[in-house]
Amino acid sequence: MGLSELEPAELARTLREVQDYDTKILGLKRDIEGLEDRHRLGELRDELEATMEAKTSEESELEAIKQKQLKLDGELDLLAKKIEKEEARMMSGTIMNSKELSAIQAEIFSLRKKRDEMETEDLEEMEAIDGLRQGIEEASRRMDEVTVRERDALKEYKRELAEKESQIAQLESERDTLKARLDEDTVAAYEKLLTDNDGLAVVGILQGRSCGGCRIDFSRTQIDKYQHEEGVFRCEYCRRMLVK
Ligand SMILES: [Zn+2]
Repeated sequence: MGLSELEPAELARTLREVQDYDTKILGLKRDIEGLEDRHRLGELRDELEATMEAKTSEESELEAIKQKQLKLDGELDLLAKKIEKEEARMMSGTIMNSKELSAIQAEIFSLRKKRDEMETEDLEEMEAIDGLRQGIEEASRRMDEVTVRERDALKEYKRELAEKESQIAQLESERDTLKARLDEDTVAAYEKLLTDNDGLAVVGILQGRSCGGCRIDFSRTQIDKYQHEEGVFRCEYCRRMLVK
């Protein structure tokens, strides 16, 4: 097995075309690697998760305050009853002792003061509850909004992925048709170079004097050879296939 049956110039042209296909395929594969990021899929998932977490935390905070308020309301009821009882006792006219009367008045005063404090606390908690409810509503709206954005992005991502995958399949099939014209050894050498050189196996000769892969200038002898001969050469430095 030697070189291909193809004429040297034809071989060079075929290899260059195969390389062009592989370059395009590689470009599409790299596009696919960056596709999730380009559609911000990870970012949107993170945003959705963060919004859900914020909502859950506000919901449990709301639950705790509601419990606290329930307890406070019970205490306020008891206090109101106690005040009512003391007031009734004072007004009943059964207590004549002025010392005892002032004691009851002082007790009523202190109970009312306590009630005022508790009512203020109750009000503050009601405001906190309102704030939390608004926060939860806002988080729900944001979740809906991000969910829609994520769904649209995913749809667009999948559409683009399918499009690129079908382009790749098409290019691969065209490339394989061309490759079938090359002999096994040439194909094997080409594929090894492709793997070893980051997808670039066949390069042109730049301005007749340097390698299109590694950019090193050739010697005078090499330049003469490339000028006067047809076919595929090898760069002595990077080993890539050189075509005119
Ligand atoms: Zn080179």
